[in-house]
Formats: sequence, structure tokens, C-alpha cells
Amino acid sequence: MKGRRLSKCETYELTYLRTSVIFLIASAVIYFVDNIFLKDKSLIADPAHRAKMIWSGVICVLVFALQWARYKVFRSFLLDNILVYCLEKILFSSLVSAIAIYSDIGVWFYIGFLLPVCMTTYIKGKRYGNCLVFVSSIIHMSMLYGKLSALVREAGGFPSDIRRTIGMAASLYVISFICVYFFGELYKHRLEDEFQSTYTTEQFDERYKMLENERDDIVQKYVRLISSSDKLEESNKTLSKSIAEFYTLNQISQAIGSILDTRELLKRLNDIILGVVGGSYSTIILYDEESERLKVHTTNINDPDDLAVIKDNINSGILLDALMEGKYILENNVDYYQYLFACGRNINSLMCIPLTTSARKYGMILVEHTLSNAFDSENVRFLRIIAQQVGIVMENAELYVKMKEMARKDGLTGIYNRQYFQERLQFEFKEAQKNGWPLSLVIYDIDHFKKFNDMYGHLFGDKVLKSVAEVVASTLRKEDMIARYGGEEFTILLPRTSLDEAYEKVETLRKMISRHVIEDNLISVSVTASFGVSTFDECALTENDLVRTADDALYEAKAAGRNCVMTARRLYEPKH
Ligand code: GH3
Ligand code: MG
Ligand code: MG
Repeated sequence: MKGRRLSKCETYELTYLRTSVIFLIASAVIYFVDNIFLKDKSLIADPAHRAKMIWSGVICVLVFALQWARYKVFRSFLLDNILVYCLEKILFSSLVSAIAIYSDIGVWFYIGFLLPVCMTTYIKGKRYGNCLVFVSSIIHMSMLYGKLSALVREAGGFPSDIRRTIGMAASLYVISFICVYFFGELYKHRLEDEFQSTYTTEQFDERYKMLENERDDIVQKYVRLISSSDKLEESNKTLSKSIAEFYTLNQISQAIGSILDTRELLKRLNDIILGVVGGSYSTIILYDEESERLKVHTTNINDPDDLAVIKDNINSGILLDALMEGKYILENNVDYYQYLFACGRNINSLMCIPLTTSARKYGMILVEHTLSNAFDSENVRFLRIIAQQVGIVMENAELYVKMKEMARKDGLTGIYNRQYFQERLQFEFKEAQKNGWPLSLVIYDIDHFKKFNDMYGHLFGDKVLKSVAEVVASTLRKEDMIARYGGEEFTILLPRTSLDEAYEKVETLRKMISRHVIEDNLISVSVTASFGVSTFDECALTENDLVRTADDALYEAKAAGRNCVMTARRLYEPKH
């Protein structure tokens, strides 16, 4: 019981114990005062009286020791064990009976008998109260009987005060039963009150628990709300990021769809990258597989000095290694010794992503920032997505160029076809017109090719066509152009070449062709060709006239006996 709050009954019990101790102390004080101070002096001087007092003192000490034991018992388990509880009460009433019967303390001491009776009834009810009265009465009666029979034996008869003693005892029992009745009623009320208060407390507890549960629910809902708002915020961020990515990729795909020119496209992509990743500079670097070198292709770096630094130092080992291994570079504290292309350009952060497909290494995207710690893995991730797109663009562009080139070429000879010749003629004619340059056009036709075909077969004829085209192509300048005009007819465009220059050039060609030997197993032959030459603006002023006059000149060459060069008629005499 120690250390915890006592229940109501336990408090009553404790009060009862204290009351009984106070009662015993008061009784002891009254007894000793009466016997030591109020009796006759002669009696007090009597040694027998003194011995009685000493014995009374000893009994008193024993009684108080007993009280101390009672108190201890109470503190440990008095109320928990009904047997101990009843025994304690019986013991106390028996003690009171014994003291009242065997000492001359006085009848008033029987009040002590009533104490446990009242207490037991109030705490345990009438049943226990009656039992206690009954058991205590029997014990009392037995003691009284022992005392009275001794008195009868001493007196040799029935002393007069015995009746009084029996009457007293009977009164004590009656008073005890009255007390049981009275405290039994109090017990009932106490139980009702306790039930009421327990019921109210239980109701209160229940309500409190409900409120507590409601509070827990609200707290949980609040926590869920906070976490869901966190999640919402997170989803919002992811969504915004996805929208930004989607928007950028959409922009890229639009650019891919609308811009056919690769240079223009890469410039546009470079601008998009800069806008999305937020660097200071963005540069697209291309890789030339033949020379194994990197080259700045597109950049937004405007400063000529900076541009010179990056162009001169772009072939850094670290970039080439990253490209070869297909790894990205993320550097937030740029060391100029490692990245020479950033030296002196106030670059502190950079990202470099390879532009590769499974088949090709096209180059790299380099994004630079003047601030330190400007980029994170998220930027790299997004730039890699863009790099994939750019890689696809490059691959497509390359395919497109190849296809376009194939569409321009003649399948047999590998030189340009008539269609592309027309395009180039248009372009070169405009250039010549615009700049006042001469433009010469040559048409040549292999002589007697039909017979040649008939004699050696078409396959060998094909070889001859190829061989003659190669011989001519090998002597031309970069700006010149040879095309197959149809069958065994060819055409040559010679920009910035006057009629005389063209004639000389073609004359050389004619001789080369005639001297060129074409061999195939046992066959070893050479062919001749006839040439017609015309020049803008010496012989013709329009595209059509240029072709027509060259064709006419060829016709004339054929007519003149073949294997010769004929020029178109001049429109005016040359100024020398
Ligand atoms: P010339 O031009 O000297 O007047 O006589 P030619 O025999 O060359 O005249 P023509 O233009 O009549 O004959 C052209 C011949 O070229 C006809 C055709 O058999 C041949 N030819 C045209 N295209 C090809 C080709 O792709 N392969 C081969 N093997 N022969 C071709
Ligand atoms: Mg011919
Ligand atoms: Mg012909």
C-alpha cells in the first residue's frame, strides 16, 4: 500500500487503527493516572499494588507492540485478505475483552469492543459484523465464564455483582448488534454512493477515453493531411518537372521536325539546352572519327578571346576519354589544369555529356557555369535525355545527307546524275550572273559507243563508262562538277572558267580519254569522245541557251569527225 494513493476504505481502516491506538493510549493514561495518583497514598505504597502497576506497564507495552504489528499488517495486506482482516478484528475485540475482564480498568473499556464491530460492519457489511459480534461474544463469554467460575470458587457462593457483570455482558452484546444494524445501514449507503461515484467515474473515464480516441483520430488525420500535403507538394514538383521536361522535349522534337539543316538544328538545340539547364554557356562539340579530334560546332560563347581558348583547347584528354567511355563529366569546382579549355574564362562548374548512339560517337554537349556548385545529378539526368535526342538527330541527319547524296548520284558511274546537275547548274548560273563570273558547260559523248557495245558487250561497255567518268573526275577542281547526262553522254560544269580556259581544259581531257586504256581479261581498248563547250556569258545568256549551245557544239564535233572539241559561237569578241 505504501507509495500509492489509499482507497476510501483503506483510509477508514487507517483511521480505525489510529482511533484504536488513541483509545488504548487514553485508556492507559486514565488507568495509570487513576492507579498512581488518584488512589489512597497507602494503597500506592503497597508493594502488591506497585507490582500490579509494573505488570500493567508491561502489558501496556505488549499491547502497543501488538498495535504496531496491526499497523504493519494493515500496511501490507490487511484489506486484501478477508481472513487476516477478520482475525485482526477478533484479536482486538478479544484483547479488549481480556483487558476488561482480567484487569480492573472499568466497564467503560468495553467501548473498545465496539470499535472493530462498527468498523467491520461499515467496511464489510452486516454479515461480517454479525459474525464478528458472534465470535467475539463467544470468546468474551468463555473468558467471562473462566473469571466468574474462579470468583464463585473463591467466594464459595454466587457473589452479588456477578449478576451485574452478566447483565453488562448481555448489554454489550445487544449494543454490539445495534451497532451492527446502524453501521450496516451506513455500509449500504456507502456502497450506493460508491457505486454512484464509480458509475460516474466510469462514465467520465469512458467519455474521457472517447475524447482521447477522438483526439488521436484528429491527430492522425492531421498527420495524414500533413503527409499527404507533403506528398502533394512532391507530386506537384515531379509534375512540374515532368511538364518542363515534356515541354523541352516537345520543343526539341518540333525543332527536329521543322529544321532540316543540321547546323541550324544544332544551334536551336543549343539554345534550348541553355534555356533548360540554366548554364552560362552551352557548346556542341563534334567528333571527327577519321582525325580522332573534337571540334567546336555550335556555341553561344561570343567573346572572341573565350572562343579562341575553347576552340584551341577543346581536344582535351579528359573530354576524349569521357567520349570514348560514354561517360558524363560533372564538375562543380573546375580545375583549370585539368580543363584547359576553361582556363581564364571564369568557368567554375561544368557538365559534359557524350552524344553517342550504339553505332557512332558524334561528339559532346558541354554546359558551363561561372558559379561553383551550379549543377547536380538532376541536371545531368535531364541533359542526358536531351543528348539522346540530339544523338538521334545527328544519326538521322547523317542518314539524310547520305540518302540525299545517293539520290544525287548515278548508280553506275558514281558521279552526279542529270537531276542534280540541273540543280547545280541553276545555282552556279545564279552565282555567275550575280558575281559576273564566267561559267563554262561541257557536254561530251563517247564516239561510236553503240558499235563498242555490240562488239564487247554491255558489261564491258559499263566498265568503259565508269572508267571514262573516273578519268575526267580525277582531273577536275573541287568547284567543278561532272554528271552523267544520259546514256554515254556526260556534262561538266566549270565555274569561273572562260571559254578559252574551258577549251584548253577539255582538250587535255579529250587527249587523256583517248590515251586511257581500259582492260578486261583479254580485252584492252581505248575510246574517244567528242566535246561541245559553251560559256556564260560569252556564248549564252540563259541556262537553257548554255545547255543548248554546248549541245550544238557537241553535234558539230560529231559532224566534224568525232574525237574533237567544238566551242559554241561567241556572242561577242573577247576583250584582250
Ligand atoms: P556516236 O555517238 O559516235 O554518234 O555513236 P554512238 O554509237 O555512240 O551513238 P548512239 O548515241 O546512237 O549510241 C549510244 C549507245 O550507247 C546506245 C546504247 O547501247 C549505249 N548505251 C547507252 N547507255 C548505256 C549504258 O548505260 N551502258 C552501256 N553499256 N551502253 C549504253
Ligand atoms: Mg555516242
Ligand atoms: Mg549518245
